Amino acid sequence: MSLAKLTEPTRDIDEEMKETSLGLSVVIPVYNEKDNLLPLHDQLISAIEPIGISYEIIYVNDGSTDGSEEVLQDIQAGSPVTAVLHLRRNFGQTAAMAAGFDRAGGEVVITMDADLQNDPADIPRLLEPLKDHDIVSGWRKDRKDAFWTRRLPSRIANWLISWITGVRLRDYGCTLKAYRREVVENLELWGDHHRFAPAVASWMGTRVSEIEVNHRPRVRGVSKYSTTRIFRVLMVVKFFLSYSASPIRFFGGVGMISVAAGMVISLYLTILKLSTGADIGGRPLLVLGVLLIVVGLQLLLMGLLGELVARVYYGVMNKPIYVVRELPKAGNPPGAPEGRSTPQRPG
Ligand code: UDP
Ligand code: MG
Repeated sequence: MSLAKLTEPTRDIDEEMKETSLGLSVVIPVYNEKDNLLPLHDQLISAIEPIGISYEIIYVNDGSTDGSEEVLQDIQAGSPVTAVLHLRRNFGQTAAMAAGFDRAGGEVVITMDADLQNDPADIPRLLEPLKDHDIVSGWRKDRKDAFWTRRLPSRIANWLISWITGVRLRDYGCTLKAYRREVVENLELWGDHHRFAPAVASWMGTRVSEIEVNHRPRVRGVSKYSTTRIFRVLMVVKFFLSYSASPIRFFGGVGMISVAAGMVISLYLTILKLSTGADIGGRPLLVLGVLLIVVGLQLLLMGLLGELVARVYYGVMNKPIYVVRELPKAGNPPGAPEGRSTPQRPG
């Protein structure tokens, strides 16, 4: 982890990419994309070679069962810039991406789909805005997916996520994104988080840019997501809504207002009693004042407890979200991590 790096002034990413031993890592989650892999690999090579930087392509086989594994091994055997990680089962696109992130050594990390819907030819264009941004996100302006089941729900989700998280993007769902290495290093992903990466990363103070990218219809293989995904995405939005601000902010705010109001009322009654000797014992206002103070204190404590619970919750989530399968032959790149984010958990 190198949080310190983030505070440094903008560095010239072009130079960084040329200077460092590895300029670019492309991370591609693969789940049953057998027929797409060869054309994808060719398109990647022809898009990246002309940039003239050192690069690696990391395919993360997310438990494919259609023979993608063999195709990937063939690709790897014939391509020294290619690494393949095989996950032990289907962990989901986010976990596959996290596995690739942990393995990626490039100064810039690019993610994209394996189904050829994203266009590798866009990669050089993504690098340009990285000069003064930390994340460059693709915007599938002319998206080639069904309107009612994909584009419309996605538009609503994008609007909601932008509104809730304050990170305004037109297309959160586009996998084609470029990250500076520091962002990827400090990004904790789980659940369906890869979609929200720019929002998740915003705590680091990342600068996000969005550029138009090409989008193509899926020609081979089938989509891995049913239309119910949108409901899951919205549940994550709800999650953001409830947990992203710390509980103490909500309970603390309401609690403090309540205590303050109770104090004012009690003070008023006290002064009244002391100055005029009036009988305040039977006044409803007294009950209200006391109630406000007691309830306010309870709320404050609840906020503190909520804060602790949230910490524990996030702490518990700090378990590996994928496990790599060791292959006997060249299939396994050296130095591949066992799992994400847990400091040396045995097994
Ligand atoms: N994917 C994956 N694991 C999964 C589901 C999908 O690695 O459990 C990969 C899939 O192979 C593809 C990308 O994620 O490269 C996007 O999936 P898909 O094209 O099915 O999503 P859509 O474009 O329909 O939203
Ligand atoms: Mg797709």
